[in-house]
Amino acid sequence: MTERLDLRSDTVTQPSAAMRAAMASAEVGDDVLDGDPTTRALECEVAELLGKEAALFFPTGSMANQAALWVLTTPGTEVLLDADAHIVHWEMAGAAALAGVQIRAVRGASLVMTAAELHDAIRVPSAHAPETSLVCVENTHNGAGGVVTPLEELQQLQQVARALGVPMHMDGARLWNAHVATGSSLAELSACADSVMVSFSKGLGAPVGAALAGTRETITRAHRARKRLGGGMRQSGILAAAARFGLAHHMSGLAQDHANARTLAAALDGVEGARVVKPHTNIVMLDLPVPCATALVAEAATLGVRISGWTHTRVRAVTHRDASSAQIEAAAPRLAEAVSRVVRAFRHA
Ligand SMILES: *Cc1c(COP(=O)(O)O)cnc(C)c1O
Repeated sequence: MTERLDLRSDTVTQPSAAMRAAMASAEVGDDVLDGDPTTRALECEVAELLGKEAALFFPTGSMANQAALWVLTTPGTEVLLDADAHIVHWEMAGAAALAGVQIRAVRGASLVMTAAELHDAIRVPSAHAPETSLVCVENTHNGAGGVVTPLEELQQLQQVARALGVPMHMDGARLWNAHVATGSSLAELSACADSVMVSFSKGLGAPVGAALAGTRETITRAHRARKRLGGGMRQSGILAAAARFGLAHHMSGLAQDHANARTLAAALDGVEGARVVKPHTNIVMLDLPVPCATALVAEAATLGVRISGWTHTRVRAVTHRDASSAQIEAAAPRLAEAVSRVVRAFRHA
């Protein structure tokens, strides 16, 4: 098999020739000294799209999440969030190391933390228990399988946070996908949270970049946090131009990524007892009946399809703009074959 298809993540997307041209011709300045015009234009555009007072460009989504945790909490308090949030698993315990807060992971039987589960997790006020300072939600939810929390549920989560008297931060690295999948506007979804992080380097195809949006006061403080974290960038307009290009040209294409994920899921679900989480967006999580994820990733690679191991019994495939429908249709049966072969081998081992 000569063709290679990389479905490890939507971060593997390459900047297109047109995006590179937009980057090359971007008007730039020193954003740390006196401002970069293209970065400023991106920040205004994002604030407007998300219906927030202000936004700030960050090199990564992780840094933007960490800046939000830093400015919205105080050390020695706790943050309530979904047990499988990116902030829990993939940000190097930054909540503890940088903001000095404890994470309390919440979730019962649902795919992603619900308002009812959040409500049940609220502590009875006590002089002996930590105070809660923040609620975080992730939309779409990566670890759950690109799962969308719909507008009504987000509003209920917000009500629970408000009743508790704390702000809510939304990790919206893939908020674009939630918007395209549900038809709810970005502003409607963002109105449910006090601060929102969005990423440009996933499905929108930019090489680098994320933004944090919120009140002017939050963003002023986040600017100081970004500087402390070493995230002040000079001619950042080169990168902001790619983000602006992605916003303008790559958003609607996400619907095709979602359709491709459904194609892939349909081919894999039920193979030798493997089960997919029905994809809401562009992420396909496949749960295996035996702990053979590492072997499956290796087997798929020999067939020209790269996927990621998520746990010993779960693999992830992510569709994106550099994986065409034709490529997905060709890869789906190959991947199903790999699942069948590896699961059978492990069963008989
Ligand atoms: C990718 C991702 C991030 C972090 O973005 P980076 O730019 O890779 O740091 C945060 N949250 C979620 C849900 C993500 O998928």
